[in-house]
Amino acid sequence: MIQQSSMISTSNGSSSYFEIIHPDVPRGNFKCALFDFDGTLSLIRRGWREIMVPYFVEEIMACPDAPVKKETESIVREFVTRLTGKQTIYQCIQLGQTVSRYGGRPKDPLAYKKEYLARLWARIEISFNSLKNKSRSADDLMLKGSRTFLTALKQRGIKLYLASGTDQVNVLEEATVLELNGFFGDRIFGAKDNWKEFSKNMIISNIIEENRLMGDGLIVIGDGYVEIEEGKSAGGYALAVACDEMKAGELDAWKRNRLIEAGADAIIIDYENTQGIINYLFPG
Ligand SMILES: [Mg+2]
Repeated sequence: MIQQSSMISTSNGSSSYFEIIHPDVPRGNFKCALFDFDGTLSLIRRGWREIMVPYFVEEIMACPDAPVKKETESIVREFVTRLTGKQTIYQCIQLGQTVSRYGGRPKDPLAYKKEYLARLWARIEISFNSLKNKSRSADDLMLKGSRTFLTALKQRGIKLYLASGTDQVNVLEEATVLELNGFFGDRIFGAKDNWKEFSKNMIISNIIEENRLMGDGLIVIGDGYVEIEEGKSAGGYALAVACDEMKAGELDAWKRNRLIEAGADAIIIDYENTQGIINYLFPG
């Protein structure tokens, strides 16, 4: 239930979306912040859903008992969204199960993942290379205000972690071209070949243990169902990012609703109003 909703004005007079869902959750004792990567800081992989969904639909439509296209699309969108934030392989495992359900013969989930990544790479290669050879500024492919927000948290002594369902090698490479390593150091985690060795739940447990945190010492910032849900179940604060990745500065209403269902305490679309967000997160 939405208890309070507000738009906070920025110093330059523009306003930035900031919606408070749970005003009574404790804030201000944060020692560690766990960031998701894609759609939370990085826009390098924006539009990935529009590659994954049509590809998965294609695989299911090839099954003997496949439903009509529209229904298939809604089935795919539902599970792709529900599993966002987990490693990509989980979406591919679910695809295999759906293919079986409609009378098809499922491929190895890794084969689905490989094909999806090849299609995605074809789309993002140019952007990635333009960052790598510095013909484009890193901030161009990040959510507005990301660097300022990270700097503000770092200045407050908050230890920053990055965890992504994207393969570790790619996360490291993409964090490097976005010049984010200085914030996270060796605290960058991504999916591993042995996918049972990684989950956001595991990372959160390690952060809590390593830093001897009480639940309210952790803030989780992400645009995926998984990190919001895991962050909340660990007793942390969940700041959800519901931006429309293809239209900077606009709310994705559908994402917002899903993130509220997952337990989000507040919703933002970017960090342009860093000061307003910081003032809210650290009252007094
Ligand atoms: Mg994400």
